[in-house]
Amino acid sequence: MSTVLTEPTATKVPIKQTKILIDNKWVPSVSGKTFETINPATGEVLANVAEADAADVDLAVRAARKAFHSKAPWRRMSAAERGKLLNRLADLIEQNIEELATLESLDNGKPRHVARAADLPLVIACYRYYAGWADKIQGKTIPISGDYFCYTRHEPVGVVGQIIPWNFPLLMQAWKLAPALACGNTVVLKVAEQTPLSALRVGELILEAGFPEGVVNILPGYGPTAGGAIARNMDIDKVAFTGSTEVGHLIMKAAAETNLKRVTLELGGKSPNIIFADADMEQAVEGSHFALFFNQGQCCCAGSRTFVEEKIYDEFVERSTERAKQRRVGDPLDKKTEQGPQVDSDQFNKVLSYVEAGKQDGARLMCGGERVGDRGYFVAPTVFADVKDDMKIAQEEIFGPVMSIMKFKDVDDLVERANKTIYGLAAAVWTRDIGKAHHIANNVRAGTVWINCFDVFDAAAPFGGFKQSGIGRELGEYGLQQYSEIKTVTVKL
Ligand code: ADP
Repeated sequence: MSTVLTEPTATKVPIKQTKILIDNKWVPSVSGKTFETINPATGEVLANVAEADAADVDLAVRAARKAFHSKAPWRRMSAAERGKLLNRLADLIEQNIEELATLESLDNGKPRHVARAADLPLVIACYRYYAGWADKIQGKTIPISGDYFCYTRHEPVGVVGQIIPWNFPLLMQAWKLAPALACGNTVVLKVAEQTPLSALRVGELILEAGFPEGVVNILPGYGPTAGGAIARNMDIDKVAFTGSTEVGHLIMKAAAETNLKRVTLELGGKSPNIIFADADMEQAVEGSHFALFFNQGQCCCAGSRTFVEEKIYDEFVERSTERAKQRRVGDPLDKKTEQGPQVDSDQFNKVLSYVEAGKQDGARLMCGGERVGDRGYFVAPTVFADVKDDMKIAQEEIFGPVMSIMKFKDVDDLVERANKTIYGLAAAVWTRDIGKAHHIANNVRAGTVWINCFDVFDAAAPFGGFKQSGIGRELGEYGLQQYSEIKTVTVKL
């Protein structure tokens, strides 16, 4: 068998922080409750972490509101100084990169070498990118009619609640904190209950960098309790959420029923990955494999509907199946591992239930479909061919290592099929014909389109969804708009 599972190694890393960060102090939860965070490679408990709920959210919001007071140090600090703090944080993360990569891998299950080579450099780059923006956020002067002087100020929104998922814990923390802080907001961040450890360690580095009291508050806790309390809080001015579309609806509803806090959402996806017959076959097979299997298939933008032109369909299916069979599943701490476990038993069971649905709906199982090993949450890389648009595996987000390959013939029909989903996060096209590539790029309804590549991320390039994949954009200059209020000032001359 080409899928190799080495024995997961129980490595001891010092877990330095398991409490809640409020007002620059590490505190237990008000209720005194804790929850376990586990190593998904072994099922073993890594640590007991303080469990924040509504009472802790209230305290954090109070601290963040105090820190947002016009006389508080954060508000009196120059924009350049805010940038310096963000740069200092980036430096500290870089200095602790090995430890953070290990923590990320242990808590999430992603291969450590991937966290080290992909996640962490992006994290550091994100803080540095927004550090550079801090003193370049500025309004306009506007020539209105009459004897007036009119200008705009880009002010921080205020106290920002942020809720992040478990698939890229450090990176999602960076995407949220960096632009919010560059704009001068204060933050109450809830990390995912599956993966609190790395974000808490960054909390320690935030204190070391010298951020003033109450500017960044970090709460580990569950969604319906701590997350729900953020969404409903009357003194939070904006909520930024990344997670499932289902919960995105709840966040928006909570905002509507309470104080109309601003809402930005980065939600699910079912991204079409389109391969034309004239594509470089090797590149397309490897690129499509990466598009789906990267991060154990746990990416909101995963290329989870692989559309292949009829002429090359059989060859593509065969080569993709061979590639999936070669994928090395195993110990996340082993340098040779390409795929670790799913994040927890819920996700593991959910992925396997989609495999069953695929089989029942009549898709052709080419490889995988089963558990690997007898502990931890490893799923064999799975490929389904002959997937039809109306099958459950072609409609719903699987969030696991399950590739669904579909056939197409006509381009107009293909565009329609690609767009026939509630989602619109990303899309990709593989072709040597620039005309075709741009036709797809222009007509597919998605926030990001990759041409002959996939999952190319940069702090400078905006990311976000059309349709039910979200509201607003993260990253780049566009990301700043979501963390600023525009104030118009008019002076009679
Ligand atoms: P997933 O299914 O991928 O775990 P979720 O949308 O459930 O995605 O979780 C993403 C984040 O949203 C996590 O931090 C989670 O705790 C939080 N969350 C889950 N349910 C709610 C909720 N009802 N209200 C607020 N936050 C929630």
